[in-house]
Amino acid sequence: MVTAIKSFTSEKTYDLTINEKTGVAEDCQCNSRHFHPGKACKHQREFNGEVQRAARFLLAVRAVREMEYQWKANREMAFSGL
Ligand SMILES: [Zn+2]
Repeated sequence: MVTAIKSFTSEKTYDLTINEKTGVAEDCQCNSRHFHPGKACKHQREFNGEVQRAARFLLAVRAVREMEYQWKANREMAFSGL
């Protein structure tokens, strides 16, 4: 998947290549890769940071749902025993 992202400093856009399986930005068409070949540029780092935040958020939401589900299940079990 290739997505166009906007430069932080200008009106330019850069093509960021995202690995759809891992959700990691693997390549970017900005100038930085010419200066630092093989290194993740700020666009890649920014994108990957966002993905990690989103992933942590989703994990947290799922954990809370599971706790709620578990809590309801325990309560139903307690009531059904009456
Ligand atoms: Zn870049």
